Amino acid sequence: MDAQSIQELKAAIREIPDWPKKGILFYDVTTLLKNGRCFEQAINALLEPYRNKQVDLVLGIEARGFIFAPPVAYALKAGFVPVRKPGKLPAAKFQVDYALEYGTDCLEIHKDAIEPGQRVLIVDDLIATGGTAQAVAQMVETMGGIVVGLDFVVELTFLHGRDKLLKYDVQSILKY
Ligand code: AMP
Repeated sequence: MDAQSIQELKAAIREIPDWPKKGILFYDVTTLLKNGRCFEQAINALLEPYRNKQVDLVLGIEARGFIFAPPVAYALKAGFVPVRKPGKLPAAKFQVDYALEYGTDCLEIHKDAIEPGQRVLIVDDLIATGGTAQAVAQMVETMGGIVVGLDFVVELTFLHGRDKLLKYDVQSILKY
C-alpha cells in the first residue's frame, strides 16, 4: 500500500486516550469502517498477500475480528470461523487460556471448525502484545491446522507482539 493510502487510513482511525482505562490509547476503527473507500482499501490490503496462498479458512477473533475476517474470507473464497469469548458457542469446543497485561483471558472454537491439514489465516483488527494471536495460532496447530498467516489492520510495534509470532507470516497494514 502506498504512503498516501496509509496516511488516509491512519487519519480515518480515531484515537481515544485513556480508554478503556488510564494509560491506554485506544484505536477506534469504527470511524474507518463507516468510510466505504477506507473499508474497501483495508480489506484489499488484508487479503492481497494471501490471494494465491490456498487459504481454506479465515479465523476471526471476537469481537472486531468478526468485522474484518468475513469479507477477507469471501474474497478468498475461503470459509469463515469465529473464535469466540467463553460461553457463546453451542457445540463441542476447545478452549485456550492466555495471559493479558493483568490476569488471563479465554477464547473458544468449535472442535469441528478446522480439519487437519486445512490452511488457516487468522485475522484481527489490532495486534498489541501478541498474546491473543499467539494463543489462537497455537490452538489452530493443536487442531492440526496450518497457520498460513496472521493478518492485522493495526500493529502497535512498540509492544513487540511480533516477537511471539516469529515462526509465522505476520502482516499489518498500519504500524504505530
Ligand atoms: P494483544 O493480545 O495484547 O495483542 O491484544 C490484542 C487484542 O486487544 C485485539 O483483539 C485488540 O482488538 C485489542 N486491543 C489491545 N490494545 C488495543 C488498543 N490500544 N486499541 C484497540 N484495541 C486494542
